[in-house]
Amino acid sequence: MSAPSLKRQFIAGATCPECNLQDKIQRIDDGEKVWMECVSCGMVRNLDEQSVQKTAEILDEIARPVTLRSPTDPKKVH
Ligand SMILES: [Zn+2]
Repeated sequence: MSAPSLKRQFIAGATCPECNLQDKIQRIDDGEKVWMECVSCGMVRNLDEQSVQKTAEILDEIARPVTLRSPTDPKKVH
C-alpha cells in the first residue's frame, strides 16, 4: 500500500509521435521522475532529472500542429 501518488496531467494539444493521436499524452510526475505516456499506444518517453528542464521544450515541440506527411517519398514512388 505504498504506491506513490502519481500526478497525471493531460497535455492539451499534444500529439503522440508514435500514433499521431492528439490529446492522448499524459505528463506523469511521481515526485522523483517525470515522464510522458501516451494512453492510446503506450508510448513512454522518460524525462530524467537532467531533462526535466527541457520538458517544457519537448512538450512544446510535440504540441505543435502536426504536418501530415505522405506515407511514401514521392521520389521513391515507382
Ligand atoms: Zn500514441
